Amino acid sequence: MQPLLSAKDLYVRYGAVEAVRGVSFELQQGEIVALLGANGAGKSSIMNAITGLVPTASGQVMFDGKDITGSAPESLAPAGLTLSPEGRRVFGTLSVADNLRMGAFALTDKDAISAAWDRVYDLFPILRERKDQYAGTLSGGQQQMLAVGRALMSNPRVLLLDEPSLGLAPLIVDQIFDLILKLRDQGVTLLVVEQNVAKTLQVADRAYVLVSGEVVEQGKPSQLSESGTMQDAYLGAN
Ligand code: ATP
Repeated sequence: MQPLLSAKDLYVRYGAVEAVRGVSFELQQGEIVALLGANGAGKSSIMNAITGLVPTASGQVMFDGKDITGSAPESLAPAGLTLSPEGRRVFGTLSVADNLRMGAFALTDKDAISAAWDRVYDLFPILRERKDQYAGTLSGGQQQMLAVGRALMSNPRVLLLDEPSLGLAPLIVDQIFDLILKLRDQGVTLLVVEQNVAKTLQVADRAYVLVSGEVVEQGKPSQLSESGTMQDAYLGAN
């Protein structure tokens, strides 16, 4: 079956730094796929290159049968591909509702917009309760929910989640992973970057392990956790 999203021989460079070196991967519709690796392994660079936030030095990104390499970020949400970036980049001086409204810019159909509001508020009732509050006054976990909620407002077919559980309390981390499963049940295909390897391998269908910008291993969680490569990746050996 043709993958919904794929990257082939992707390279990302920042001057002399080669952050991503020949990475290839694919996501089938309905899958949860994880990108794992230590700090600096190139995970965010891959997410940002897919969504046009950093330039692709070479390689090809395909989405839904189309070549989207180097596409502008704002052209991808209307096509159904959205990133929830690392670091909960919410707009602190805007209300929760206004943050969400910005995520819906890609939708023009009134019914679709109304369905997106219902869906996000049903997934995150706390956001409905706090809709008029400044986003900056939310807790870290709530801001993360808002960042994911904003990404969902464009009704994506593929959602890229960059470090959704970073810095959150254990109970909230569990909620984030429950959410990932719930979104998949709703038909969203997910590419997830995470440092929380154990939890990620509980929900992912497949994972790619990165060391120094290269894929060193890939497979189902059961195959990966038995190998030493994962440990090497996180201990920084290469
Ligand atoms: P982290 O979890 O720390 O975000 P990561 O796996 O997402 O790590 P990247 O953020 O993609 O890794 O970084 C990969 C490499 O590229 C690192 O060596 C990093 O220092 C470098 N890098 C990232 N962004 C830039 C930039 N804007 N300019 C120069 N170098 C960068």
